[in-house]
Amino acid sequence: MSEIIKTEALVLRKIDYGDTSKIAQFYSRDFGKISAIIKGARSIKSKIGMMIDTMNLLQLVLYRKETREVQIVSQVDLIKHYPRIRDDYEKYKYASAIIELILNLTFENEHSKKIFDGTVRILSLLDASDQNSKLLFVKYFFFFLKEIGYEFQLKHCNICRKDLLAYDEVSFNYETGLMCKKCRKDRFVNFDFDEELFNLLIGLNSKKNNIICKEEDLNLIINILEKFLMYHIHEFKGIKSLKMS
Ligand SMILES: [Zn+2]
Repeated sequence: MSEIIKTEALVLRKIDYGDTSKIAQFYSRDFGKISAIIKGARSIKSKIGMMIDTMNLLQLVLYRKETREVQIVSQVDLIKHYPRIRDDYEKYKYASAIIELILNLTFENEHSKKIFDGTVRILSLLDASDQNSKLLFVKYFFFFLKEIGYEFQLKHCNICRKDLLAYDEVSFNYETGLMCKKCRKDRFVNFDFDEELFNLLIGLNSKKNNIICKEEDLNLIINILEKFLMYHIHEFKGIKSLKMS
């Protein structure tokens, strides 16, 4: 039995299928990641075909059958597209990195309204605001890690549970996460955060948006988060979109 469902969805990627159709992967608000075929979408006259483009936010009506891998789209309406992201290389690079995280690190039939809403929000911010794209991405990266169960927690030492304070020196290894000065003594350390860098981590995990920081510190944090994920998820090989120069 298939049911007719209506949901908002972001286009993650699309491929041509046969002579006339397209298959797309979506992240939908109510069902998480789904694949669906859009019949007739390759025709140049197809309005629907034009809407099925990466990062577009759509309203979908589809026939859904849980046992089927590819669902069937019956109706598409465009809710929002992000023209400024497409015109600006920096914005595009980080928006692509966000799409890549969702493609690689979420599973079909697992859904999170928080991931969906958070992603729509960050794409709108990237598109409409003049805030630093890299900074917006790093904030999203922390949010995303938390939502997929790999929170980079900053509140207390992961060994003795003592609260970590803004002026503390803290260390980090990929297995344990953050540790206090005392606990790091007899443990393997991948990285030491000085006060300035630790404060930046706290700022990036707060609701504040007007954070002043150096580009190279953001690069460093992205690098640490990627390695942290690679350590815990062996299939994850880093974010390709960020390797484009
Ligand atoms: Zn400790």
